Amino acid sequence: MTESERKSGLFVIPGDRLGVIEEFTSGPGTYVEDGIIHAQVTGRTLLDMLNRQVSVYPIVEAATVPQVGSVVTGMATDVRNKNAILHIFKIGDKNLSGAFKGALHISGVSHGYVDNMYDVCKSGDIVRAKVISTANRSIFLSTVDKDLGVLQALCSMCGNLLEPANRGMNCPNCGNFERRKMAPDYGKDKTREGEGNEN
Ligand SMILES: [Zn+2]
Repeated sequence: MTESERKSGLFVIPGDRLGVIEEFTSGPGTYVEDGIIHAQVTGRTLLDMLNRQVSVYPIVEAATVPQVGSVVTGMATDVRNKNAILHIFKIGDKNLSGAFKGALHISGVSHGYVDNMYDVCKSGDIVRAKVISTANRSIFLSTVDKDLGVLQALCSMCGNLLEPANRGMNCPNCGNFERRKMAPDYGKDKTREGEGNEN
């Protein structure tokens, strides 16, 4: 946090730097590590200039906000050549009531070179990704790790659920062949099937 940003009411997430112990004392919702005061909870800063104390007032439960390292599940929308947006509806195994948007860039999809996001995911796909940055309140995602990627994909010709095939995906309905960055448990996530489970 730079000098000019030091004010009350800033939205912060756990780990954000709030100041150093030479200038502030650590108030509720903060912790000190190596002389640096960090936010302990997601919330808004409160600077008490009189007592030179910095606090964070929680505004949401930390568990319901995607944080760096969180594994999230979302639906791909706005898929373009080099990037895609995920509407995140799940963090870990917790379903969210609201939704967060996360951005996936072509440089963060796979270990190998990929030149087209359409070979990774398409709009409507259910994708598992990891949060790699929440800087400036924007959520940036990666699907590089091998347990990440598309969990369910629909044929872009007919809308049928695609099945894994040799080096890609196959539509059992119309025979269309497409590519995805598949998660190893592709097809096992029942998110899209909703109420269909027996129990
Ligand atoms: Zn099809």
